Amino acid sequence: MTDLAEFAREKGVKYFMISYTDLFGSQRAKLVPAQAIAEMQKDGAGFAGFATWLDLTPAHADMLALPDASSVIQLPWKREVAWVASDCVMSDSGPLAQAPRNVLGRLTAEAAEMGLVVKTGVEPEFFLLTPEGTQISDPADTAVKPCYDQQAVMRRYDVVAEICDYMLELGWEPYQNDHEDANGQFEMNWKYDSAMATADKHSFFKFMTRSVAEKHGLRATFMPKPIMGLTGNGCHVHISVWTRDGRNAFADDGKELSLSDEGRHFLGGVMKHASALAAITNPTVNSYKRINAPRTVSGATWAPNTVTWTGNNRTHMVRVPGPGRFELRLPDGAVNPYLLQAVIIAAGLSGLRSKADPGKRHDIDMYAEGHRITDAPKLPLNLLDAIRAYDDDAGLKAAMGEDFSAAYIKMKTQEWNSYCGHLTQWERDNTLDI
Ligand code: ADP
Ligand code: MG
Ligand code: MG
Ligand code: MG
Ligand code: MG
Repeated sequence: MTDLAEFAREKGVKYFMISYTDLFGSQRAKLVPAQAIAEMQKDGAGFAGFATWLDLTPAHADMLALPDASSVIQLPWKREVAWVASDCVMSDSGPLAQAPRNVLGRLTAEAAEMGLVVKTGVEPEFFLLTPEGTQISDPADTAVKPCYDQQAVMRRYDVVAEICDYMLELGWEPYQNDHEDANGQFEMNWKYDSAMATADKHSFFKFMTRSVAEKHGLRATFMPKPIMGLTGNGCHVHISVWTRDGRNAFADDGKELSLSDEGRHFLGGVMKHASALAAITNPTVNSYKRINAPRTVSGATWAPNTVTWTGNNRTHMVRVPGPGRFELRLPDGAVNPYLLQAVIIAAGLSGLRSKADPGKRHDIDMYAEGHRITDAPKLPLNLLDAIRAYDDDAGLKAAMGEDFSAAYIKMKTQEWNSYCGHLTQWERDNTLDI
């Protein structure tokens, strides 16, 4: 186990960010001087939980964020500071059931009890905007089909290469960076890892990308649909399950698309719970402007609208790009990194246990011919739809934890109500003179 005080001495770290992620995906931290870290590593840093999105009241006892020293990362862009992910513990009653990293910890432990390690890679897309967040930062980035635009990616080389250099230094094994399908949009890819490690890296990647962008006078956003008419920010996940002895349990050359029976059942669980798990993978009001969206300027949204799966075809919710894994294309950039992994494992393990069948695979172009598929559920049309689908899915709620599910449904319903209490320009435009 890493001794954080020792880590500070070795690396010249002056401050630790003891960081946790709340239900809405916000990262919260205290800056703790290295001189005080030994105590904090043992006892945790105190927070008033009510002040963040955790479904606690002001009367609750202090919440302690207990650093998981194995996650510590020295900030490559500010070496005197180190970030460490932590688990939330109530000072009077033990681990906080609804805290996202605790939910994921419980589910990875469940998989481990079944002798399985879930390994995933995420693809968090982001836009580089001007600081006020209303427009893309590069006025020359105007192509109708801007994906892989060589000239535009080089105009943002300073930001992209800085982030990629840091990932190389951290040993994440990044392997490609590109301009994505929307003007101002980028994607950077690094190697898959166990679900908890990926969740920590995903969190840190968002923090790092925002920080580096700010340093360059820009604003990075992972918002699902920051600009109407352009392709939104997805956060696809590639998933495989491994046995303890290091065998990919999803790979079987003899099966359809080389996906083993275990892979099919795990996928079956994800398919079965898809509409409900959208409440987690697509967690904001804005998320539903990305899925179900009309065709974008580039020609395709690259986001699904129906619960279907296929081989190497990017128009469906699930794609099997090659042997031994599948890709879930539903999640968006607003997803909580811990809950994303947790809900995939929850749905997948339920599929394994019940030997769920993913149903018939469809190989059509869903954007052109999706109307032909009449036997597959449509994804939720808005956040309220998704919250209700989640609330109706007793199995998924139980697998994610009853305390977590109750807290999540309550907080997300409040968010929906807050949105509905907001008067929009659309309403004025369409209702003022009625
Ligand atoms: P695409 O854009 O074609 O969907 P990317 O190359 O952008 O794919 O991202 C693929 C992600 O999948 C990476 O994070 C990669 O490490 C990950 N990946 C590759 N193989 C596996 C696997 N067996 N299990 C889980 N993730 C994987
Ligand atoms: Mg105080
Ligand atoms: Mg990709
Ligand atoms: Mg992409
Ligand atoms: Mg992808």
